[in-house]
Amino acid sequence: MSLARSVAAIAIGLSLAATARAQQPTLNLYSARHYQTDEALYDNFTKATGIRINRVDADDAGILARLSTEGSASPADVILLVDAARLWRAEVDGLFQPVKNKTLEARVPAQWRGKDNGDGSQWFGLSTRARVVVYNKAKVRRDDVDTYEELAEAKNKGLLCTRSGSHPYNLSLFGAMQEHLGPQATETWLKGLVTNMARAPKGGDTDQILGVASGECGIALTNTYYLARLMRSDKPQDKAAIDKVGVVFPNQASFGTHVNIAGAAIARHARNRAAALQFLEYLVSDQAQIYFADGNNEWPVVAGFKFSNPALQTMGSFKRETIPISVVGMNQVKIQQMLDRVGYK
Ligand code: FE
Repeated sequence: MSLARSVAAIAIGLSLAATARAQQPTLNLYSARHYQTDEALYDNFTKATGIRINRVDADDAGILARLSTEGSASPADVILLVDAARLWRAEVDGLFQPVKNKTLEARVPAQWRGKDNGDGSQWFGLSTRARVVVYNKAKVRRDDVDTYEELAEAKNKGLLCTRSGSHPYNLSLFGAMQEHLGPQATETWLKGLVTNMARAPKGGDTDQILGVASGECGIALTNTYYLARLMRSDKPQDKAAIDKVGVVFPNQASFGTHVNIAGAAIARHARNRAAALQFLEYLVSDQAQIYFADGNNEWPVVAGFKFSNPALQTMGSFKRETIPISVVGMNQVKIQQMLDRVGYK
């Protein structure tokens, strides 16, 4: 082949490759999953399907605001949120669309899906996380903190640290408590929590665990994956902190520990519905479900997995509350009003 011809051949080859890339479907993903280890999850999907993922990262509130602003011009196909309260809010705001799909229905138990009004659920839980109590082993007796109710009792005065009461993780826990205790008792309980605080609410869950370890706080609430992250850390200061902290899965003798979800939905105005559905099915596949456990210390929503995560193994099995997570999300409006009344910042 002459030089000119081979140059031409290469040029054609390159332009074909460019065309193939351009024709490769792209999925626009809005994600509130703030976990670096998720990269592998998305890469594996692209490798398996050829569908590229164009990701927009923001927190839950930011994603909801963006979807509302964009309206029908939104390029979003799939939305990942990390809390039931937010998933419910997005559904009510009309940001999702119902999905009827045999794989998703078979893999995701009804407790962890949006309510199905006949045309399918609008969101699907992918992984679960428990909201547990951590306590300083030198300052607090385990027996004094083995229920959520006890955190509000006089014996724990001046010991409690939490992040903001309005943070979705707390709104969901409190919304679950409203189901378990009724609204009046829940408001009294929230008032007790405020009375028992060691400091004004601030920081994230990891800050609360470290506050307990340092002794500034005696008791705190945290999602389990933050705890597991510290348990698996090689850093000496993390190991030292974890040594000082006891963990309780509350209410094992009554309604069980509060469990929240991270979940996925197809955007109301998704352009690429087929790819979006393919991605949701991938997220409940064995491969992705094991990833949630081993990569981000969450429990797979699909039952019956063996995973090697040592922190999850240490935490063991526990009794979970059984209320539908969609109800928990629905209660957040009332809960926010209670928080305002009792002065829970
Ligand atoms: Fe988080």
